[in-house]
Amino acid sequence: MSRKLVSDLKLLIKSFSTHCTSIQQSRSASSLAFKNAYINGQWVPAEDGRTFPVRNPANGDLISEVPDMQAKETETAVNHASDAFKRWKNYTAIERSILLKKWHDIMTKNQEGLAQIVTAENGKPLAEARGEITYGLSFVEWFAEEGKRIYGDVIPSAFQSKRLLHLKQPVGVCGIITPWNSPSAMILRTVGAALAAGCTVVVKPAEDTPLSALATCYFAEQAGIPAGVLNVVTCSQQHVSEVGRVLCQSPKVSKISFTGSSATGKILMKQSVDTVKRVSMELGGHAAFIVFNSADVDAAVVGAVAAKFRGAGQTCISPNRMLVQEEVYDEFCEKLVKVVSQFVVGDGQEDGTTQGPLIHEKAVNKVDSHVKDAVAKGGKVLIGGERHVKGPTFYSPTVIRDITEDMLVCSEETFGPLAPVIKFKNEEEAVLLANSTRFGLAGYFYSQDIRQIWRVAEDLEVGMVGINEGIIFSPSIAFGGIKESGLGREGSKYGIDEYLNIKYTCFGGIC
Ligand code: ADP
Repeated sequence: MSRKLVSDLKLLIKSFSTHCTSIQQSRSASSLAFKNAYINGQWVPAEDGRTFPVRNPANGDLISEVPDMQAKETETAVNHASDAFKRWKNYTAIERSILLKKWHDIMTKNQEGLAQIVTAENGKPLAEARGEITYGLSFVEWFAEEGKRIYGDVIPSAFQSKRLLHLKQPVGVCGIITPWNSPSAMILRTVGAALAAGCTVVVKPAEDTPLSALATCYFAEQAGIPAGVLNVVTCSQQHVSEVGRVLCQSPKVSKISFTGSSATGKILMKQSVDTVKRVSMELGGHAAFIVFNSADVDAAVVGAVAAKFRGAGQTCISPNRMLVQEEVYDEFCEKLVKVVSQFVVGDGQEDGTTQGPLIHEKAVNKVDSHVKDAVAKGGKVLIGGERHVKGPTFYSPTVIRDITEDMLVCSEETFGPLAPVIKFKNEEEAVLLANSTRFGLAGYFYSQDIRQIWRVAEDLEVGMVGINEGIIFSPSIAFGGIKESGLGREGSKYGIDEYLNIKYTCFGGIC
């Protein structure tokens, strides 16, 4: 492996753990293992006292028991959010910004504890969890600033007697449903925008990872964010659909923001039809990662590792298909395998772990089924290809070559540490393959041919493109997809618009 490749990889791993040395650890993870949900500024149990367990996916250890809430508690949370909205929308943008910054600063002081919660309930290595907290916090800071720049318009009037204006107003109560793969950042990204816009929220975190959500409430309370503005309803898998139904069907909820699978997103969209709700959906992906003959292959390997194996491949923008042009195919496979062979699989809390467990055994079974299907149809395993000895939630990081279009990996999102490598002949074929899916979240390609770069960037049917780059996220960019990967954008100067209505006002009789 080249020296440059090694140093780039070190940089990459360092970038996952930015700021970790400057963190003040004032609350440990164990003292942040919450036991109640958070509604209207109160820490409350389920009405019938029922709870469900939150377990560490690395070893199955019980971390906490949290309330298993149902429709009734969700309605209560919505009512409180609706009452709180009447007051929160009248805070000035500056007042909201000051509170969000306070929230940001308190969480920044407690980054280490927040990261440990993420690792404990999600399993990702601590260095990556620290990176997730930094990423999530950057949205709170971003939207605290953006909230001060919600400008309307004064429109040139066609009539001397009329003055025309656009006002921007918060949409109201937002139901926010979030996934387990970035349990803290996905909440901070959406809630940060909603609160800055003047909305109040009821969050339903994923049943596997409710503690990160509750931790954000704990610090919101400390920051002085008023009761009812941020509410978190926790529930087990058994009650997910009834809680979701209340959020989608309540006339008091004006918007649903969902991050998760396309299948669930479609259910939520259908349920939101009767109340004609605003929705924004950040759904599944099936990203292609294309390496053209002209590419810097070492750089492509660094990008591929960063994009594919972060979070053990459990991110929506993770490449599901590596498309590599024939001249560089063998070199890319060989170099990728060398890097993957250095991964350390284990408990995310242990020093040196680069690959944690998957979220549950069902996820491992899916990866295994994709591997078995590929092998049965002629794929050649270069590394991995089996469950890992560390335990039932672990899968060995895997690279398979000679992948063909008829294999499951080419049509389904694997959501795990499997890099399937497909050989292609020319640009037309690569773009056709990349676009041959109903998903359109992210796409990546490596090329040094400037004309090809423009062509392919324009031709990929996705919301986000990484060109000679594997890490593409930032609070300043518009994150989101097209096709069945979603609606709306998060982050950037556009993200706050998802939580705002435009009201046209016409002032007559001026002269
Ligand atoms: P995954 O399959 O990766 O777990 P999901 O889309 O099922 O992705 O889950 C993402 C979020 O959606 C989680 O908070 C989960 O509880 C929630 N969810 C799943 N099904 C429903 C549903 N029918 N109604 C409301 N929320 C749901």
